[in-house]
Amino acid sequence: MSTMTNERADSPACATASLGNYRFHDLPDPSKWADCVHCGMCLESCPTYEQTGQEQHSPRGRVHLMKSVGEGKLELTPDLLDPIFTCLDCRACTTACPADVDVGGLIEQVRGQLRQAVPLTGWKAFVSDLFLKGVFPHPSRLDWLGRLLKWYQKSGLQTVARKTGLLKVMPDHLAEMEAILPEVGTPVRKKYRHQPLIKAKGETKRTVAILTGCVMDVMFSDINEATIRVLTRNGNDVVIVPNQTCCGALHVHAGDRETGRKLAKQNIEAFQDVDHVIVNAAGCGCMLKEYPELFRHDPEWHEKAEQFAAKVEDVSKFLHDTGFKPPKAELNVRLTYHDACHLAHGQGIRQEPRALIESIPGMEMVAMPNADRCCGSAGIYNITHPDMAQAVLESKMQHVPQEVELISMGNPGCMLQMALGVKKYGRSQKIVHTVQLLDWAYQKEEGKDVRI
Ligand code: SF4
Ligand code: SF4
Repeated sequence: MSTMTNERADSPACATASLGNYRFHDLPDPSKWADCVHCGMCLESCPTYEQTGQEQHSPRGRVHLMKSVGEGKLELTPDLLDPIFTCLDCRACTTACPADVDVGGLIEQVRGQLRQAVPLTGWKAFVSDLFLKGVFPHPSRLDWLGRLLKWYQKSGLQTVARKTGLLKVMPDHLAEMEAILPEVGTPVRKKYRHQPLIKAKGETKRTVAILTGCVMDVMFSDINEATIRVLTRNGNDVVIVPNQTCCGALHVHAGDRETGRKLAKQNIEAFQDVDHVIVNAAGCGCMLKEYPELFRHDPEWHEKAEQFAAKVEDVSKFLHDTGFKPPKAELNVRLTYHDACHLAHGQGIRQEPRALIESIPGMEMVAMPNADRCCGSAGIYNITHPDMAQAVLESKMQHVPQEVELISMGNPGCMLQMALGVKKYGRSQKIVHTVQLLDWAYQKEEGKDVRI
C-alpha cells in the first residue's frame, strides 16, 4: 500500500483523527452507515445485485464492508476495489431504504479513501490523469477536443473508419460508443463569449445562469442551446458565467475528491453573483447540490457550498415551479420517459419533467416499467466497467416500450447509453432531452419547420 504521497488523517497537516482503518484526509461520515439495520429491503433495487446475486455487490453488503473498515475489522486493501467501484452510484438503494441510508454518498467518501490507499498505476493512471485532470477542468482543451471530434466527423475520416473496419482495433465497447457519438456543434460558452447575457423574450421576470458543463457543451451543445431558448421564452434573462468549470462529478465518482473540491471552489466563486444556477444534466445538478458534502471538514467552504447549493435547480423543476408557458403547437408523437438516477433518486425529481412533457399538445406518453432503473451509464462507468454496464443496459432496454418513437430523459450520460441500447438491440427510437421537446413545441408555435 502506497501512502507516501498522500495526506494521512493523523498527519500534522490534518487535525482529523483516523476512523478505524480509514486513515486519510476527508474521513467518511460514520452516521451514514449507523442506521443500516441489514433488513435487505434495498436488495431488489440494486442493478449490480440483480446481475451478480452476490452480497458484496449489494447495497447492504457494501455498507457492511465500508462499516467494517470504519470499525477496524477490515483493512483498506485492494480487495475492496471491486465491490466499491462496481457500484453504479445510482442511488436506487437510498430510495428503497426505509432508514434513508445514503449508500451512494458513503460509496463516494470511501472511494476517496481507497484511491489514496491504492492509487491507480500504469495506463489507467495515465488515462485518468489525462482526461479527468488534463481535459475536463479546462474549457479551452475541451474546445480543442470538440474541434478534433468535429473534424473527425466532417472530414470523411469517420465514414472511412467505419467502412474499412479501422475501428476494430479499438476495444468493442469503445467502438460501440464511437458509433453513437452525436454530431458535435459549437459550445455555447464559445458562441456567447461576446454576449454573456441573453435577454428574455418579452418581459424579464428574473435572471438565471446556466451550467454549460464540460462534456455537455461539447457533445450536446444543441441541448444547451435549446435550454437557453426555453428559459428566455419563459421570461428569464440567461447569463453564461465565464469562469465556470466542470462540476467535478466524474472526479468524485472516481475517488479524486481533491480535484472535485478544486472544481467546486471555482464554480462556487464563478456563480457567486447570481441567484439561480440552472442545470440540464442530472448528474451535474446532483453534484452541485452535494458540494457541501465535499467540505464537511472545512467550515468556511462548507458554508459557501451550502449557499451555492441552495441556488442550484434542475431545469425541468425550475420551469415547472416558476410557471412555464404550456406550448400551443402540437407535437403528435408517442414517447416514453426514463428517470435518470441522479434526477429521480439523487434529487427526487420525477413529476416535474413528466408535467412538462404532458403539457405539450398531441404528446402521447407511454409509461416505462421500472423507469427509474439505471441504464448503466453512470458517468464513465460504461468505459471502466463495460461488461456490467452492458448487462444493466440490456435489462433496461427490456423495459422500453416497443411502440414509442422517442425516449426522453434529463441527463446526457443516459442519452448516450440509451442511444447505444437503441442501436445495439435493433430499436428505432430517437433519444431526446426533455427540454428539447418543449423547445420544438415553442418553435413550431412560432411557425418554424420542426422535424422530429
Ligand atoms: S441500506 Fe437500508 S434497506 Fe439496505 S439493508 Fe441497510 S437499512 Fe436495510
Ligand atoms: S448505488 Fe446503485 S449500484 Fe450502488 S449499491 Fe446502491 S443500488 Fe446498488
